[in-house]
Amino acid sequence: MRRPCFGGERLRGRVRCGPVPPASEPTHGKTLPSAQCVSGGAGGSSFLLTKRPKLVVVIAIDQFRADYLTKFDPYFGATGFRRLLSRGASWTGHYGHYATYTGPGHALLLSGSYAYVNGIGANKFYNAETRRSEAMVFDGSVQILGMAKTDPDMDLSPKNFLGSTVGDELSLATGGRSKTISLATKGRGAILLGGRLGKTYFINEETGEMTTSSYYMRELPVWMLAWNKKKLADSYFGKKWERVLPPEAYAVSVPDDAQAEGDSKGLGKMFPHVVDGKLSAPGPDFYEAFTRTPFANDYELDFAKAAVDGEKLGRRGVTDLLAISLSAIDLAGHDFGPFSQEVQDLVVRTDKQLGEFFEWLYGKFASDEVVVLLSADHGATPVPEQMAAIGFDAGRIKKKAIKEAIDGALTKRFGAAGGEGWVVAMEDPHVFLNRKVMADKKLDAKEVERIAGEGAMTLKGFAGFLTRTQLMTGAVPPTDLARSLVRSYHAPRGGDVVMWTQPFYFWGKYGEKDQGSTHGTWYRYDSEVPVILVGPGVRPGRYGVREMVDVAPTLSYLLGLTAPAGSEGEVAPVLKGD
Ligand SMILES: [Zn+2]
Repeated sequence: MRRPCFGGERLRGRVRCGPVPPASEPTHGKTLPSAQCVSGGAGGSSFLLTKRPKLVVVIAIDQFRADYLTKFDPYFGATGFRRLLSRGASWTGHYGHYATYTGPGHALLLSGSYAYVNGIGANKFYNAETRRSEAMVFDGSVQILGMAKTDPDMDLSPKNFLGSTVGDELSLATGGRSKTISLATKGRGAILLGGRLGKTYFINEETGEMTTSSYYMRELPVWMLAWNKKKLADSYFGKKWERVLPPEAYAVSVPDDAQAEGDSKGLGKMFPHVVDGKLSAPGPDFYEAFTRTPFANDYELDFAKAAVDGEKLGRRGVTDLLAISLSAIDLAGHDFGPFSQEVQDLVVRTDKQLGEFFEWLYGKFASDEVVVLLSADHGATPVPEQMAAIGFDAGRIKKKAIKEAIDGALTKRFGAAGGEGWVVAMEDPHVFLNRKVMADKKLDAKEVERIAGEGAMTLKGFAGFLTRTQLMTGAVPPTDLARSLVRSYHAPRGGDVVMWTQPFYFWGKYGEKDQGSTHGTWYRYDSEVPVILVGPGVRPGRYGVREMVDVAPTLSYLLGLTAPAGSEGEVAPVLKGD
């Protein structure tokens, strides 16, 4: 009897049909479109010259600047980054969008698409329907398993991600039999690597266990229940994070007591950082502190191994995809800055941790059975106060000042808005204006947007702006910076004015603080990340600088897949036989 299939897997010249996933399992899954298997031929996939690997492992290190690989190379071992660099193709990836944040970066990485297509233009946006700011991966129709409350800051599902990812295309090409499993401690990174069809896991910061949302499933799989029973996070309670290298090795970073470093969740500003959240027993503050330390990498990689075994990834006759976003460097980077000893220590420890993970991985699979892609979602901005202290023009722009400047300019020209005021939300780089007042007063939107932008430009640190009208009509300057803002602009979730800053300035969540740092601009410190691709079919070597939208089509081509829907990059010249 013919079983239903979708497309079928065309490996080794024949279509193989598999069962569609059970409809009862994922609440979003329904069933994949199905057809009767009728073909036994090669199906026109003559480009597929080699068999697909058993497993694709994607490692996205959150907030990992391209220069971390060179700056800290002297402290790396043989089995981590250096192993990948010597065996694979490597290049510097450049994010061509403006909003170099976690959501947009992870959304672009495996889709090869920009936000104007994929919809993930920033980490948050103002939802005109609900009249509030929401996380880009918030989803009001689902909940986190094991958590009673849901709030609009939560990362819950890829509902707002439009198009497809490499993992989605793998699934579509195999009748839904290829699995994508993605994980992180930070939900948004994992969710966007998982695409629409993957299963995504992240930490529950109330319990320290890994969980997911009801978008993906109603109950956690058995292997995961067993893993959670280990209470791995709790085993780090009260531990001290000490420097792993001799003190003199940290001379390439700023002193441990450098100015404007942060102190989150009781970790303190200097080594050793005691990881207890200032609690007497594990609880939410501890789990939040824990995610900022190197111990969180051990936790994630241990969970990744359990996922490979529990889901039998790479052992099921199809190519599976495991995507790991390591969140710790980002969280510590926000607290201590990219030039801190903490970030150096974390990078060096990440090298060791990945080295151990690769030993395990290559012990399980032959090297020609696995493709590994290592990259990052964005870089990091130096701490402005540290830059200003050595003579750079650098700083933070406060939201209150921005709001006052815009409100003042619009009130002067058009009168008071009343009620909510002229500015209803600010989610950098977007300012959302009061469109209701604009309509009630019968104002020309183009003019209101321009006056608002000019108001913001009176503040030190801003360098330019584009209006919604300009962005939607393409009336933008012919500069790469302006193009990056167009790429980051998804009109249904876009603001009325978007501003760019001078180099070394920022605004937004981390602009409100007076310590730590962030990322989120077009400037190279935020937009350059490493890319390393290792596996069968990849020609080892160094390949200069390439756009990050090239990564997904390159991986797709390597796997013999259609590139993801909105993908617009080129296949990098790193594949054998091309
Ligand atoms: Zn990030």
